[in-house]
Amino acid sequence: MPLRVAVVGSGPAGIYTAEALTKQAGEPVEIDVLDRLPTPYGLVRYGVAPDHTSIKSIAGYLRRVLELPSVRFLGGVELGRDVSAADLAACYDAVVYCTGAMVDRRLGIPGEDLPGSVAATDFVNWYCGHPDVPPETFSLDSTDVAVIGVGNVAVDVVRVLARSADELRATDVPQEVLDRLAKSQVRTLHMIGRRGPEHAKFTLKELRELGDLSNCDVSVRHDEAGDGDVSALSRQVRGNVEVLRSWCGRTPAGRPRRLDVRFWLRPVEILGTIRVEGLKLERTALVDGRVTGTGEFEVVPAGMVLRSVGYQSVPLPGVPFDGTTMTVPNVAGRVGEGQYVAGWLKRGPSGVIGTNKSDAAETVRTLLADLAVRGERAAPPSRLDDVLAARRVHPVTYEQWLSIEAAEAALAVALGRGEHVKLTGRSAMLAAFGRAGLPGPAL
Ligand code: NAP
Repeated sequence: MPLRVAVVGSGPAGIYTAEALTKQAGEPVEIDVLDRLPTPYGLVRYGVAPDHTSIKSIAGYLRRVLELPSVRFLGGVELGRDVSAADLAACYDAVVYCTGAMVDRRLGIPGEDLPGSVAATDFVNWYCGHPDVPPETFSLDSTDVAVIGVGNVAVDVVRVLARSADELRATDVPQEVLDRLAKSQVRTLHMIGRRGPEHAKFTLKELRELGDLSNCDVSVRHDEAGDGDVSALSRQVRGNVEVLRSWCGRTPAGRPRRLDVRFWLRPVEILGTIRVEGLKLERTALVDGRVTGTGEFEVVPAGMVLRSVGYQSVPLPGVPFDGTTMTVPNVAGRVGEGQYVAGWLKRGPSGVIGTNKSDAAETVRTLLADLAVRGERAAPPSRLDDVLAARRVHPVTYEQWLSIEAAEAALAVALGRGEHVKLTGRSAMLAAFGRAGLPGPAL
């Protein structure tokens, strides 16, 4: 009797988990990878910036895992709506939850919910064509945009806003989104860090890319970049500081857009009455290592404020959750009897995509060691296919996903753009394999 495991979430953490299971099990395995969306790859499809094609090519690696005979993809199956944690426990020897970090962290300042104050998660989902954020969500009609945070997500959203639509034509950005980017009124981008250049979270490669944009001048202020000795800093941090300092002396080349990278400023209020009009900032200093306001304020005019201060996970029904760390409490991936966790849901939103590979391998080692201790296994009492059929839930199969992908390739040809152009909306995806009209819940 093969070992039966469900993996909830088909992003990198989920698929690396499936791969680790096939490699480490030492016995036949059957792995079902479930996703609430009709499409696999999670953040690789809906998080990695469209112009970062080399990172997106990780999908090619993940695809090979989904194509293993021991692995099955079941799209459009949502935990809490179509299946419960108890259903999964009855159908599998073990369940590994890998649903990542789907929402933004809150700033907790006045004005955060004004129209025009946007979570970076939503904005990223928008330009990546996520079915939950339709193309009409954003119209980029402000000349000034403030981006709070100096991590790699902030760099991504700044870069996408700074590029011309022509530069993004060959990417898989949905056509309706590209049309909106082409009409963008954005002229000035302000990217704001609450600490100094040496504390910024972005990586050197990503930072350098901002300085090489052909459509955007970049600037940093001397007094915010600092001029202290950098020799004791790590290579990565020193590199960031040196690049930022080199931008201080740059003469603007008259490019259509401008990026002003700011430091030592924390957001205290998003200003506006019916929609965002500006961002009030307070100058900061580090006192005993803590970010502390100095009582000196300034206002950056902005019709849109993008809050890019980190992602966080959401609780899953039937799975323990720590509301302080915003992760699932675990020991080396073990949550409880038959329940495991991997990826951002396990350790928080940190690291690069590849970090999830070793993270998933650790969880799988724990899982297999637990099963070895448990000894002889009884067959799980239920089968997921029967549970779903009884509820008239029709999962999207891997082959059907391939039809979605083929439709995206055909759209790119029809539009004379790149290799793929994303379909937006679940109905367009389902139409790609003739699903429209079948009974069952809307995906
Ligand atoms: P992040 O790296 O944690 O950066 C969050 C930023 O928000 C930091 O600058 C942080 O400043 C700031 N921040 C947090 N709370 C704040 C507050 N209350 N007020 C003002 N600023 C605040 O998060 P991320 O950018 O969302 O990235 C998540 C993960 O994805 C990271 O591991 C990242 O490297 C990865 N990623 C990688 C790529 C890539 O490789 N190209 C692309 C995108 C994302 P403090 O440091 O002061 O807290």
